[in-house]
Amino acid sequence: MKYEPVIGLEVHAQLSTDSKIFCRCGTAFGSPQNSQVCPICLGMPGVLPVLNRKAVEFAIKMGLATNCRIAAYSIFARKNYFYPDLPKGYQISQYEEPLCENGWLEIEQEGGTLKRVGIIRIHLEEDAGKSVHAEGYVSENETLIDVNRCGTPLIEIVSEPDICSPHEAYLYLNRIRQLVRYLGICDGNMEEGSLRCDANISVRPTGEKKFGTKTELKNMNSFRNVEKALEFEINRQIQLLESGGQVVQQTLLWDATNSKVMPMRSKEEAHDYRYFPEPDLAPLRVAEQWREEIRVALPELPMARRNRFVEQFGLPKYDADVLTDEKAIADYFEAVAKSVKDAKLASNWVMGEVLRVLKEQKTGITQFSIKPNALAELLNLIAGSTISGKIAKDVFEEMLAGGKSAKVIVDEKGLLQVSDTSMIAKAVGEVIAANPKEVERYRNGEEKLFGFLVGQVMKATRGKANPKLANEILKKALVS
Ligand code: ADP
Ligand code: ZN
Ligand code: MG
Repeated sequence: MKYEPVIGLEVHAQLSTDSKIFCRCGTAFGSPQNSQVCPICLGMPGVLPVLNRKAVEFAIKMGLATNCRIAAYSIFARKNYFYPDLPKGYQISQYEEPLCENGWLEIEQEGGTLKRVGIIRIHLEEDAGKSVHAEGYVSENETLIDVNRCGTPLIEIVSEPDICSPHEAYLYLNRIRQLVRYLGICDGNMEEGSLRCDANISVRPTGEKKFGTKTELKNMNSFRNVEKALEFEINRQIQLLESGGQVVQQTLLWDATNSKVMPMRSKEEAHDYRYFPEPDLAPLRVAEQWREEIRVALPELPMARRNRFVEQFGLPKYDADVLTDEKAIADYFEAVAKSVKDAKLASNWVMGEVLRVLKEQKTGITQFSIKPNALAELLNLIAGSTISGKIAKDVFEEMLAGGKSAKVIVDEKGLLQVSDTSMIAKAVGEVIAANPKEVERYRNGEEKLFGFLVGQVMKATRGKANPKLANEILKKALVS
């Protein structure tokens, strides 16, 4: 019998608001332990939460970007459970009547086929604190509690069980990460825990309509780990079924070191949490006007922008994909392309030199020292045949090192491309005289030697000869 996997993902994204969701404490990552707390996020008796408007706006942005219906009326609920990093004894979340429902997003499979993955809901909730054991400063058999993260705003994005393979799960997570970053609502940093994913997974005989029993996987701290953990769990479930066993509904922890899953607890049911409407918060009402203001202010989303880059700039889809992967890169490219006629030239340089330097310097494009207009100036020198592409690479390095403009560097170093035919002809004459054997072999039909001879001409002119002219003049000289 053949089996097929059924996967649904629950993604928690930490919203990058300055303050927490129900109090004024800050949310900066890496602050000293237990320094960002107040009676509200510690849940002291008698305090009252006040909802952060920005957090709601961010959640609505994500809802709109994933085609959800935004509820005009939604409510908060208490989810009660005991855990050392949850001093209140409950988490304020949304249960019935969440803020966003019934959406979808598209993932792109190899070959460009689009697949829709449904979004059941996106709701707002607060994060819990952290139990710290694995750090050097914690002794064995000891756990320390850091409550800084209590009350950090989260959205939870719950997908339909529409995902059919670990790779699709990976594509889905990348899309979510790209979207939250485009929207500027979450930095998408999985290592710092800004984006966390739980995976629900079951298998069923291929063609069967009914779902099998699912397990829930937790503790995967990278997209690659999600993919690996899902692969492992799919195989585990199939082997279990094939040997006559049954899948037990439970929560499993992924152990990345040993590449296997460990049972964590039997799956809790909703009633275990004793959900009830949060009595300290009024229902959340989202006016149509506000919702529409947020919709109008949404940035152009990645797929739309990708398609526009292909149409407007005539770029290959590959280029457009790379350039629109991150909003800031796409903004940078557009700013360059605005002043350079040859969009493909601009694309080659941004994808090539610029992204290479960012990787080397481990920085983002917003910190990049060569601003779009400075790069455009350099590219226009190439487009106008003032300098060759090869010299331009040197000028680019010089711009990086010294912050001077391309024109200034070209002037100072005398790098202007030589389009003076007599000068190039002189160099050609010298090269022919100096390489009689190669010239003869070329004349006897070894055409690939032409490249060598052009190279010598370029060398003789220290790279400054206009390559097109050098080619022409050399070719003429060789036939005569
Ligand atoms: P629970 O009540 O166990 O939390 P939900 O119905 O709320 O389950 O769904 C939680 C997540 O599990 C969703 O992402 C959903 O797509 C997924 N899911 C539901 N049933 C299955 C299944 N049989 N196999 C895989 N994923 C599933
Ligand atoms: Zn607080
Ligand atoms: Mg559920």
